[in-house]
Amino acid sequence: MPEADVVLEVRDLAKHYPVRRGVVLKRQIGEVKAVDGVSLTLRKGRTLGLVGESGSGKSTLAKVLVGVEKPTRGQILVDGRDVTDVGRAERRALRRTIQMVFQDPYTSLNPRMSIGEIVGEAFAIHPDMAPAGDRGKAVRELLDRVGLNPDHVHRYPHQFSGGQRQRIGIARALAVRPRILLCDEPVSALDVSIQGQVINLLEELQDDLGLSYLFIAHDLSVVRHIADEVAVMYLGRVVESGTDDEVYERPHHPYTRALMSAAPVPDPTRRDDCLEIMLEGDVPSPLDPPTGCHFHTRCWLAPLIEGSVDAERPDGRPVPAVCRNDRPKLAPQESPDHHAACHFAADVARR
Ligand code: SF4
Repeated sequence: MPEADVVLEVRDLAKHYPVRRGVVLKRQIGEVKAVDGVSLTLRKGRTLGLVGESGSGKSTLAKVLVGVEKPTRGQILVDGRDVTDVGRAERRALRRTIQMVFQDPYTSLNPRMSIGEIVGEAFAIHPDMAPAGDRGKAVRELLDRVGLNPDHVHRYPHQFSGGQRQRIGIARALAVRPRILLCDEPVSALDVSIQGQVINLLEELQDDLGLSYLFIAHDLSVVRHIADEVAVMYLGRVVESGTDDEVYERPHHPYTRALMSAAPVPDPTRRDDCLEIMLEGDVPSPLDPPTGCHFHTRCWLAPLIEGSVDAERPDGRPVPAVCRNDRPKLAPQESPDHHAACHFAADVARR
Protein backbone atom coordinates (compact mmCIF):
# COMPACT_ATOMS: atom_id res chain seq x y z
CA MET A 1 0.00 0.00 0.00
CA PRO A 2 1.40 3.46 -0.87
CA GLU A 3 2.91 5.67 1.85
CA ALA A 4 0.14 8.23 1.29
CA ASP A 5 -2.34 5.80 2.86
CA VAL A 6 -0.49 5.84 6.17
CA VAL A 7 -2.32 8.14 8.61
CA LEU A 8 -0.46 7.22 11.78
CA GLU A 9 3.01 5.86 12.22
CA VAL A 10 4.60 5.07 15.55
CA ARG A 11 8.37 4.64 15.55
CA ASP A 12 10.29 3.10 18.44
CA LEU A 13 7.91 4.60 20.98
CA ALA A 14 8.73 4.15 24.65
CA LYS A 15 7.13 5.20 27.92
CA HIS A 16 9.19 4.50 31.02
CA TYR A 17 8.08 5.46 34.52
CA PRO A 18 10.77 6.05 37.17
CA VAL A 19 10.27 4.15 40.42
CA ARG A 20 11.45 6.12 43.46
CA ARG A 21 11.96 5.29 47.10
CA GLY A 22 12.42 7.57 50.10
CA VAL A 23 10.26 10.31 51.54
CA VAL A 24 12.68 13.23 51.14
CA LEU A 25 15.31 12.34 48.55
CA LYS A 26 13.03 10.11 46.48
CA ARG A 27 15.96 8.18 45.05
CA GLN A 28 15.20 6.43 41.75
CA ILE A 29 15.53 2.68 42.26
CA GLY A 30 14.41 1.53 38.85
CA GLU A 31 11.93 2.13 36.08
CA VAL A 32 8.85 0.48 34.68
CA LYS A 33 9.12 0.10 30.92
CA ALA A 34 5.38 0.14 30.25
CA VAL A 35 5.98 0.66 26.52
CA ASP A 36 9.42 -0.24 25.24
CA GLY A 37 10.21 0.42 21.60
CA VAL A 38 6.88 -0.05 19.82
CA SER A 39 6.53 0.61 16.08
CA LEU A 40 3.13 0.49 14.35
CA THR A 41 1.53 1.66 11.12
CA LEU A 42 -2.15 2.55 10.69
CA ARG A 43 -3.58 3.11 7.21
CA LYS A 44 -6.53 5.15 6.01
CA GLY A 45 -9.89 3.44 6.47
CA ARG A 46 -8.32 0.42 8.15
CA THR A 47 -8.43 -1.06 11.64
CA LEU A 48 -5.36 -2.13 13.54
CA GLY A 49 -6.20 -4.41 16.46
CA LEU A 50 -3.89 -4.29 19.47
CA VAL A 51 -4.12 -7.33 21.72
CA GLY A 52 -2.38 -8.66 24.80
CA GLU A 53 -3.06 -9.48 28.43
CA SER A 54 -3.58 -6.87 31.10
CA GLY A 55 -0.18 -5.28 31.82
CA SER A 56 1.08 -5.64 28.26
CA GLY A 57 1.25 -1.86 27.75
CA LYS A 58 -1.72 -1.39 25.42
CA SER A 59 -3.48 1.27 27.46
CA THR A 60 -0.27 3.18 28.22
CA LEU A 61 0.43 3.25 24.50
CA ALA A 62 -3.07 4.70 23.94
CA LYS A 63 -2.46 7.42 26.53
CA VAL A 64 0.80 8.41 24.84
CA LEU A 65 -0.85 8.51 21.42
CA VAL A 66 -3.63 10.87 22.52
CA GLY A 67 -1.19 13.09 24.41
CA VAL A 68 -2.27 12.25 27.97
CA GLU A 69 1.27 10.96 28.64
CA LYS A 70 4.56 12.17 27.18
CA PRO A 71 6.71 9.55 25.49
CA THR A 72 10.15 8.79 26.90
CA ARG A 73 11.44 8.41 23.36
CA GLY A 74 10.25 7.74 19.84
CA GLN A 75 8.11 9.42 17.21
CA ILE A 76 4.36 9.67 16.56
CA LEU A 77 3.78 10.72 12.96
CA VAL A 78 0.33 11.94 11.96
CA ASP A 79 0.21 12.41 8.19
CA GLY A 80 3.99 12.29 8.22
CA ARG A 81 4.39 15.08 10.84
CA ASP A 82 5.96 14.13 14.15
CA VAL A 83 3.57 15.42 16.86
CA THR A 84 6.29 15.01 19.48
CA ASP A 85 8.45 17.57 17.67
CA VAL A 86 6.17 20.49 16.73
CA GLY A 87 4.99 23.67 18.45
CA ARG A 88 1.99 23.70 20.78
CA ALA A 89 -0.53 25.08 18.27
CA GLU A 90 0.41 22.61 15.55
CA ARG A 91 0.50 19.75 18.03
CA ARG A 92 -3.03 20.66 19.14
CA ALA A 93 -4.26 20.69 15.54
CA LEU A 94 -2.58 17.37 14.76
CA ARG A 95 -3.78 15.81 17.99
CA ARG A 96 -7.35 16.73 17.08
CA THR A 97 -7.17 14.16 14.34
CA ILE A 98 -6.82 11.39 16.98
CA GLN A 99 -9.75 11.01 19.35
CA MET A 100 -10.38 8.39 21.98
CA VAL A 101 -13.35 6.17 22.73
CA PHE A 102 -13.00 4.95 26.29
CA GLN A 103 -13.59 1.53 27.79
CA ASP A 104 -16.14 2.43 30.39
CA PRO A 105 -19.12 4.47 29.22
CA TYR A 106 -20.31 4.62 32.85
CA THR A 107 -17.37 6.65 34.11
CA SER A 108 -16.15 8.48 31.00
CA LEU A 109 -19.17 10.81 30.86
CA ASN A 110 -19.64 13.66 33.34
CA PRO A 111 -22.91 12.84 35.18
CA ARG A 112 -23.62 16.54 35.80
CA MET A 113 -23.59 17.50 32.12
CA SER A 114 -26.41 16.92 29.64
CA ILE A 115 -25.44 14.83 26.64
CA GLY A 116 -25.76 17.96 24.51
CA GLU A 117 -23.16 19.68 26.69
CA ILE A 118 -20.91 16.60 26.65
CA VAL A 119 -20.95 16.25 22.88
CA GLY A 120 -20.75 20.02 22.28
CA GLU A 121 -17.91 20.59 24.77
CA ALA A 122 -15.35 19.98 22.03
CA PHE A 123 -16.63 23.00 20.10
CA ALA A 124 -15.54 25.28 22.94
CA ILE A 125 -11.99 23.87 22.66
CA HIS A 126 -12.00 23.81 18.84
CA PRO A 127 -14.37 26.68 17.88
CA ASP A 128 -13.50 26.33 14.19
CA MET A 129 -15.34 22.99 14.16
CA ALA A 130 -18.77 24.70 14.38
CA PRO A 131 -19.68 28.42 14.46
CA ALA A 132 -21.34 29.42 17.75
CA GLY A 133 -24.82 29.69 16.18
CA ASP A 134 -24.62 26.24 14.59
CA ARG A 135 -23.44 24.22 17.57
CA GLY A 136 -26.87 23.04 18.73
CA LYS A 137 -27.61 21.77 15.23
CA ALA A 138 -24.20 20.11 14.97
CA VAL A 139 -24.75 18.28 18.28
CA ARG A 140 -28.17 17.03 17.17
CA GLU A 141 -26.69 15.79 13.90
CA LEU A 142 -23.97 13.93 15.77
CA LEU A 143 -26.51 12.25 18.07
CA ASP A 144 -28.54 11.23 15.05
CA ARG A 145 -25.37 9.94 13.35
CA VAL A 146 -24.65 7.51 16.19
CA GLY A 147 -28.26 6.27 16.39
CA LEU A 148 -29.51 8.36 19.33
CA ASN A 149 -32.67 10.46 19.36
CA PRO A 150 -31.59 14.13 18.88
CA ASP A 151 -34.60 15.19 21.00
CA HIS A 152 -32.84 13.65 24.02
CA VAL A 153 -30.11 16.29 23.88
CA HIS A 154 -31.08 17.67 27.32
CA ARG A 155 -31.03 14.32 29.08
CA TYR A 156 -28.24 13.19 31.40
CA PRO A 157 -25.97 10.13 31.11
CA HIS A 158 -27.79 8.16 33.85
CA GLN A 159 -30.94 8.23 31.70
CA PHE A 160 -29.25 6.06 29.04
CA SER A 161 -28.31 2.39 28.82
CA GLY A 162 -24.68 1.22 28.63
CA GLY A 163 -24.75 0.85 24.85
CA GLN A 164 -26.36 4.28 24.44
CA ARG A 165 -23.71 5.82 26.67
CA GLN A 166 -21.00 4.33 24.50
CA ARG A 167 -22.77 5.92 21.49
CA ILE A 168 -22.61 9.26 23.34
CA GLY A 169 -18.87 8.71 23.80
CA ILE A 170 -18.49 8.01 20.09
CA ALA A 171 -20.51 11.15 19.19
CA ARG A 172 -18.24 13.19 21.47
CA ALA A 173 -15.16 11.77 19.76
CA LEU A 174 -16.60 12.54 16.29
CA ALA A 175 -17.39 16.19 17.15
CA VAL A 176 -13.94 17.44 16.11
CA ARG A 177 -14.01 15.44 12.87
CA PRO A 178 -11.08 13.15 13.66
CA ARG A 179 -9.58 10.79 11.12
CA ILE A 180 -8.35 8.30 13.71
CA LEU A 181 -10.34 6.80 16.58
CA LEU A 182 -8.39 5.16 19.30
CA CYS A 183 -10.83 2.68 20.81
CA ASP A 184 -9.62 1.38 24.19
CA GLU A 185 -11.65 -1.75 25.00
CA PRO A 186 -14.78 0.05 23.75
CA VAL A 187 -17.18 -2.87 24.17
CA SER A 188 -15.72 -4.90 27.03
CA ALA A 189 -18.02 -3.28 29.64
CA LEU A 190 -21.14 -4.03 27.56
CA ASP A 191 -23.45 -7.06 27.33
CA VAL A 192 -22.58 -9.35 24.43
CA SER A 193 -25.79 -8.49 22.54
CA ILE A 194 -24.99 -4.77 22.81
CA GLN A 195 -21.33 -5.28 21.84
CA GLY A 196 -22.38 -6.31 18.34
CA GLN A 197 -24.49 -3.17 17.89
CA VAL A 198 -21.61 -0.88 18.89
CA ILE A 199 -19.16 -2.76 16.65
CA ASN A 200 -21.63 -2.47 13.75
CA LEU A 201 -21.91 1.28 14.38
CA LEU A 202 -18.11 1.64 14.35
CA GLU A 203 -17.94 -0.28 11.07
CA GLU A 204 -20.66 1.89 9.49
CA LEU A 205 -18.87 5.07 10.58
CA GLN A 206 -15.61 3.76 9.17
CA ASP A 207 -17.21 3.07 5.79
CA ASP A 208 -19.03 6.42 5.67
CA LEU A 209 -16.30 8.68 7.05
CA GLY A 210 -13.13 6.83 6.04
CA LEU A 211 -12.02 6.63 9.67
CA SER A 212 -9.01 4.61 10.80
CA TYR A 213 -9.19 2.71 14.08
CA LEU A 214 -6.61 1.59 16.56
CA PHE A 215 -8.73 -0.97 18.37
CA ILE A 216 -7.41 -2.16 21.73
CA ALA A 217 -9.01 -5.26 23.19
CA HIS A 218 -8.26 -8.40 25.14
CA ASP A 219 -11.18 -10.22 23.47
CA LEU A 220 -9.58 -11.84 20.44
CA SER A 221 -12.87 -12.72 18.77
CA VAL A 222 -13.94 -9.05 18.75
CA VAL A 223 -10.57 -8.03 17.29
CA ARG A 224 -10.79 -10.77 14.67
CA HIS A 225 -14.18 -9.45 13.64
CA ILE A 226 -13.19 -5.82 13.21
CA ALA A 227 -9.43 -5.68 12.52
CA ASP A 228 -7.61 -5.73 9.20
CA GLU A 229 -4.20 -5.93 10.86
CA VAL A 230 -3.25 -7.14 14.32
CA ALA A 231 -0.34 -6.38 16.65
CA VAL A 232 0.24 -8.54 19.73
CA MET A 233 1.92 -6.93 22.75
CA TYR A 234 3.73 -8.57 25.63
CA LEU A 235 5.40 -6.65 28.46
CA GLY A 236 5.60 -3.39 26.56
CA ARG A 237 6.81 -4.78 23.24
CA VAL A 238 5.11 -5.91 20.04
CA VAL A 239 5.91 -9.60 19.64
CA GLU A 240 3.93 -10.28 16.47
CA SER A 241 2.15 -8.23 13.80
CA GLY A 242 0.53 -8.91 10.46
CA THR A 243 -2.84 -9.15 8.73
CA ASP A 244 -5.59 -10.70 10.81
CA ASP A 245 -5.46 -13.88 8.72
CA GLU A 246 -1.70 -14.20 9.14
CA VAL A 247 -1.76 -13.67 12.89
CA TYR A 248 -4.89 -15.73 13.60
CA GLU A 249 -4.37 -18.56 11.12
CA ARG A 250 -0.58 -18.85 11.10
CA PRO A 251 0.78 -17.36 14.33
CA HIS A 252 4.58 -17.34 14.46
CA HIS A 253 5.04 -16.37 18.11
CA PRO A 254 4.38 -18.83 20.99
CA TYR A 255 2.58 -16.10 22.95
CA THR A 256 0.17 -15.38 20.10
CA ARG A 257 -0.41 -19.10 19.67
CA ALA A 258 -1.19 -19.45 23.38
CA LEU A 259 -3.57 -16.45 23.33
CA MET A 260 -5.41 -18.03 20.42
CA SER A 261 -5.70 -21.30 22.35
CA ALA A 262 -7.26 -19.50 25.30
CA ALA A 263 -9.83 -17.70 23.12
CA PRO A 264 -13.31 -19.15 22.51
CA VAL A 265 -13.43 -21.03 19.21
CA PRO A 266 -16.33 -20.04 16.95
CA ASP A 267 -15.82 -23.11 14.74
CA PRO A 268 -16.17 -26.29 16.89
CA THR A 269 -14.48 -28.41 14.21
CA ARG A 270 -11.22 -26.57 15.02
CA ARG A 271 -11.55 -26.99 18.80
CA ASP A 272 -9.05 -29.86 19.08
CA ASP A 273 -6.34 -27.86 17.35
CA CYS A 274 -6.97 -24.86 19.48
CA LEU A 275 -7.04 -26.30 22.98
CA GLU A 276 -3.55 -27.71 22.89
CA ILE A 277 -1.59 -24.83 24.48
CA MET A 278 -2.01 -23.33 27.93
CA LEU A 279 -0.66 -19.93 28.90
CA GLU A 280 0.82 -20.53 32.35
CA GLY A 281 1.41 -18.04 35.14
CA ASP A 282 0.95 -14.29 35.25
CA VAL A 283 2.62 -11.58 33.22
CA PRO A 284 5.94 -10.85 35.04
CA SER A 285 6.42 -7.47 36.70
CA PRO A 286 7.50 -4.82 34.19
CA LEU A 287 9.71 -3.44 36.98
CA ASP A 288 11.89 -6.53 36.72
CA PRO A 289 11.16 -8.20 33.39
CA PRO A 290 12.86 -11.47 32.39
CA THR A 291 16.15 -11.11 30.52
CA GLY A 292 16.52 -11.85 26.80
CA CYS A 293 13.11 -12.79 25.43
CA HIS A 294 10.62 -11.42 27.98
CA PHE A 295 8.36 -14.41 27.33
CA HIS A 296 10.94 -17.08 28.17
CA THR A 297 9.58 -17.67 31.72
CA ARG A 298 6.16 -18.68 30.34
CA CYS A 299 6.99 -19.96 26.89
CA TRP A 300 5.59 -23.42 26.08
CA LEU A 301 7.93 -23.83 23.12
CA ALA A 302 11.30 -23.05 24.74
CA PRO A 303 11.50 -26.29 26.79
CA LEU A 304 10.67 -28.30 23.65
CA ILE A 305 13.58 -26.91 21.65
CA GLU A 306 16.24 -29.55 21.17
CA GLY A 307 19.28 -28.83 23.30
CA SER A 308 17.36 -26.45 25.54
CA VAL A 309 19.31 -27.47 28.62
CA ASP A 310 21.71 -24.57 28.77
CA ALA A 311 19.79 -22.60 31.34
CA GLU A 312 16.92 -23.27 33.71
CA ARG A 313 13.94 -21.03 34.34
CA PRO A 314 12.10 -20.55 37.66
CA ASP A 315 9.72 -23.49 37.11
CA GLY A 316 12.73 -25.78 36.68
CA ARG A 317 12.11 -26.44 33.00
CA PRO A 318 14.95 -25.97 30.53
CA VAL A 319 15.18 -23.00 28.23
CA PRO A 320 17.69 -22.33 25.45
CA ALA A 321 20.39 -19.87 26.47
CA VAL A 322 19.60 -17.76 23.42
CA CYS A 323 16.04 -17.22 24.72
CA ARG A 324 17.27 -16.26 28.17
CA ASN A 325 20.07 -13.99 27.01
CA ASP A 326 19.21 -12.40 23.64
CA ARG A 327 16.25 -10.18 22.91
CA PRO A 328 14.67 -11.46 19.67
CA LYS A 329 13.99 -8.78 17.08
CA LEU A 330 10.71 -8.43 15.18
CA ALA A 331 11.65 -10.16 11.93
CA PRO A 332 9.68 -10.75 8.71
CA GLN A 333 8.11 -14.20 8.40
CA GLU A 334 6.34 -15.78 5.42
CA SER A 335 5.25 -12.42 4.04
CA PRO A 336 7.07 -9.08 4.34
CA ASP A 337 4.24 -7.58 6.47
CA HIS A 338 4.09 -10.49 8.92
CA HIS A 339 6.61 -10.06 11.74
CA ALA A 340 7.37 -12.08 14.86
CA ALA A 341 9.96 -11.65 17.62
CA CYS A 342 11.00 -15.22 18.40
CA HIS A 343 14.31 -16.99 17.82
CA PHE A 344 12.32 -20.10 16.87
CA ALA A 345 9.41 -18.56 14.96
CA ALA A 346 9.61 -21.18 12.21
CA ASP A 347 9.13 -23.91 14.86
CA VAL A 348 5.90 -22.27 16.09
CA ALA A 349 4.41 -22.44 12.64
CA ARG A 350 5.44 -26.10 12.25
CA ARG A 351 3.93 -27.37 15.53
FE1 SF4 B 1 9.88 -18.74 23.43
FE2 SF4 B 1 12.49 -18.50 22.94
FE3 SF4 B 1 10.71 -17.74 21.11
FE4 SF4 B 1 10.99 -16.34 23.35
S1 SF4 B 1 12.52 -16.60 21.73
S2 SF4 B 1 9.10 -16.90 22.43
S3 SF4 B 1 11.41 -17.97 24.81
S4 SF4 B 1 11.06 -19.84 21.85
